[in-house]
Amino acid sequence: MNDCLFCKIIKGEIPCSKIYENEFVFAFKDIDPQAPFHAIIVPKEHISSADEINADNSHLIGKIFEAVAVIAKQENLNNGYRVVNNCGKDGGQTVGHIHFHLLARRNLAWPPG
Ligand code: 5GP
Ligand code: ZN
Repeated sequence: MNDCLFCKIIKGEIPCSKIYENEFVFAFKDIDPQAPFHAIIVPKEHISSADEINADNSHLIGKIFEAVAVIAKQENLNNGYRVVNNCGKDGGQTVGHIHFHLLARRNLAWPPG
């Protein structure tokens, strides 16, 4: 996907502040943080949104949450955190490569707005 922003970040074509990487996933700081700690975690494989998850690629979502647990320990997110996926227009998705927000280091309101 040539014109995908997050594919370009994964490939290093657009700079980012990398937090974590393994064979399957890539994590970096959000450019417009909504909490004192705000990471974006993506599968390296291009998947447009949660709507595109299927039996062939769903293992990558498990890899995302494995990475969440590693990053939480790496970054000492001892007070907890929130993982958010925005899907589609009403869900607030603005980048068409599935991603999970990892938000921490403040008390997060519930329910969200
Ligand atoms: P969405 O609104 O699709 O759930 O989340 C997209 C996120 O990507 C937003 O929180 C936005 O701040 C972040 N973002 C957009 N462009 C860039 C960029 O070029 N670099 C980084 N690091 N984050 C970005
Ligand atoms: Zn992509």
